[in-house]
Amino acid sequence: MNYKDYQNTRDAAWKILLDCGIEKLPVDLNHICRQLGVGVYRYGDITMTGETPLQGDGLLYFEGSRPVILFDQDKPPARIRFTIAHELGHLVLGHVAAGQGGAAKRDFSVAADPVEAAANRFAIRLLAPACVLWGLEAYTAQEISQLCNISVQAAQFRAERMLVLRGRGKFLISALEQQVYKQFQPFIREARQIPPGE
Ligand SMILES: [Zn+2]
Repeated sequence: MNYKDYQNTRDAAWKILLDCGIEKLPVDLNHICRQLGVGVYRYGDITMTGETPLQGDGLLYFEGSRPVILFDQDKPPARIRFTIAHELGHLVLGHVAAGQGGAAKRDFSVAADPVEAAANRFAIRLLAPACVLWGLEAYTAQEISQLCNISVQAAQFRAERMLVLRGRGKFLISALEQQVYKQFQPFIREARQIPPGE
């Protein structure tokens, strides 16, 4: 997998959903990590040597050429999902690369940081794709949280964004988004109990 294909594009989350064959909610992050060759471990699994302290929600670094995500296993599961998606964002968007050293952490306190903001945007687009929520007519934070297995807090941001997107009526404009929608269509039909052919 060439991560450079995804870098600095608005479409990165859509491409990952397509390339990894994700076709239902909640998005299977384990599958995505396996497809991308990313190792995912709990802080408790790792004995770190060197200067990197294990603190914060999560961490991305390279072990040789292999990307590794670590996460704090003591956080709630929905929050852990967002953390892993956020760290995947750092990887896919090229914020940390093999051979450069360094690590990207999840840190809410620096949300104004453009790199952190980009990783958060990637994460929410990956976990709660707008066109799928639109297809499901899932617009409340409660519904989005349950469908996507994300925190109500994260779902609330998505619900507000959905309101803006619906106001503009801009769904399925991009060819990539149309492909994502098509990939999720059987799931959407089943969830809405629409018989085939309608
Ligand atoms: Zn981060």
